[in-house]
Amino acid sequence: MRAELEKIVGAAAVDERQVRDLWPLGIMEERAGVAPPKVLVARPTGRDQVAAILRWAGTNGVAVTPMGGGSGVCGALAPAAGEVVLDMSAFDRVFEIDETNLVCRCEAGVNGYALEQQLNEKGLTLGHYPSSLPGTTVGGLISTRSSGQESSRYGSIEDMVLGLAVVLPDGTFAAPRPGPRSAAGPALHQLFAGAEGGLGVVLGAVLRVHRVPEATVGRGYAFADLPSGLECMRVVMQSGLRPLVMRLYDAEDTVFNGYDLGDGECLLVVATSGPRDVAEAEAATVKKVAGEARELGEGPWQRWQKHRFDLSAERLKAFLEPAGAYLDTIELAAPWSVLSELHARVKSAIALGGLALCHFSHAYEQGCCAYFSFAGSGDTEADARAKYVRAWEGAMSAALELGATITHHHGVGQARSRWVADEMGGWMRVWEAVRQGLDPQRVMNPRAVGGSR
Ligand SMILES: Cc1cc2nc3c(=O)[nH]c(=O)nc-3n(C[C@H](O)[C@H](O)[C@H](O)COP(=O)(O)OP(=O)(O)OC[C@H]3O[C@@H](n4cnc5c(N)ncnc54)[C@H](O)[C@@H]3O)c2cc1C
Repeated sequence: MRAELEKIVGAAAVDERQVRDLWPLGIMEERAGVAPPKVLVARPTGRDQVAAILRWAGTNGVAVTPMGGGSGVCGALAPAAGEVVLDMSAFDRVFEIDETNLVCRCEAGVNGYALEQQLNEKGLTLGHYPSSLPGTTVGGLISTRSSGQESSRYGSIEDMVLGLAVVLPDGTFAAPRPGPRSAAGPALHQLFAGAEGGLGVVLGAVLRVHRVPEATVGRGYAFADLPSGLECMRVVMQSGLRPLVMRLYDAEDTVFNGYDLGDGECLLVVATSGPRDVAEAEAATVKKVAGEARELGEGPWQRWQKHRFDLSAERLKAFLEPAGAYLDTIELAAPWSVLSELHARVKSAIALGGLALCHFSHAYEQGCCAYFSFAGSGDTEADARAKYVRAWEGAMSAALELGATITHHHGVGQARSRWVADEMGGWMRVWEAVRQGLDPQRVMNPRAVGGSR
């Protein structure tokens, strides 16, 4: 098998190693003695090499999983023995930053943070800031349907993708279509936003970019309780404002973030941006909507900015190092009218181990994402795993019963494969049919969107 791959990409571009993403249960399993297998990793350098690998894999019944930065947290990138990984890091070119039409064309292996820096040098931004941005690639950001800290203003990755270049499992190529929008049939490239490498290989993207706003005005507010903070967020979004950042921390998360507010008070950090007078006028409107909430000045905004990328892969791994420790995050989304109940039910489900936090960000006129973090430890690895699994089961059941989505932006992978059909219902048939149609030999990632472990 190695010789065949070497024939396609050259000997120097093939190696054998353990590959897996940052799914906490995967890390816990390895800690408990179940090491990921070594697999062959090929690093293709052009479209023809990708196509040749997929054709070879189809003929030989080998599964292939594309790899970006490996920062996924759902176990979508976790190849089994005998499978092959496509390392996309050689696809690292930014072809064009078009300052007139506000479009950027780049390859899938481009690092998310590096791209943002290149755009910033020209006074532009993609506006896509997942907390993990430095460890991501454009292809991974697209394939997980990711969402960033500024999504309330700029949208999530699917709103930024104007076109995609992909290699399909049979080796054929589909190029980006003309934009900025087309009614020539459905926007089929959007099928790849969230496909987790299950439909083909994303080679490159045409992305919508924005001018960096002239001014940003950030403030913190202390709300007496969670419902009043959520109500403020709802009214802000429904008044037509699009804050750059808007995050509400529940009482426990407020304390965890180092804020010594009043008993049970919840911190809201909100920033408006645009031309200076607009940013200031919007900030004044937010203040009016916040009503009786205590204004905390610029401090919370400045502090949030300083720490916005603190939750790194290294910190996640360090936390999970001690035997019996567990930690994970679950990001759900629901209509405004459901969020308080969702919060209460999920918090009680994940609180088994001690730490249970929630903040609300990624706001829409229709609802918001509720982002839960939980951690604890077990006396044994089996005990830790049992608590961890119970927390997930409780959170997923609450989400499904309340009509919330089981994932706002991390995706499915192995973490949610048990529940994804419950949410998708009849759409699972569409997904399976698309997959079967494009990939009858099942070359692409077996652990994508509902794939089995
Ligand atoms: C500390 C931390 C914070 C995080 N914060 C956020 C956040 O704020 N928002 C958010 O949305 N996510 C967040 N994530 C999750 C993760 O960073 C995202 O899912 C990210 O989009 C993954 O990108 P990646 O390049 O690392 O992809 P990988 O992990 O390498 O791959 C993810 C999936 O995409 C597929 N894939 C990768 N490249 C391609 C390609 N070229 N073609 C086809 N399929 C491909 C893989 O096969 C896999 O199924 C966080 C993760 C960590 C560890």
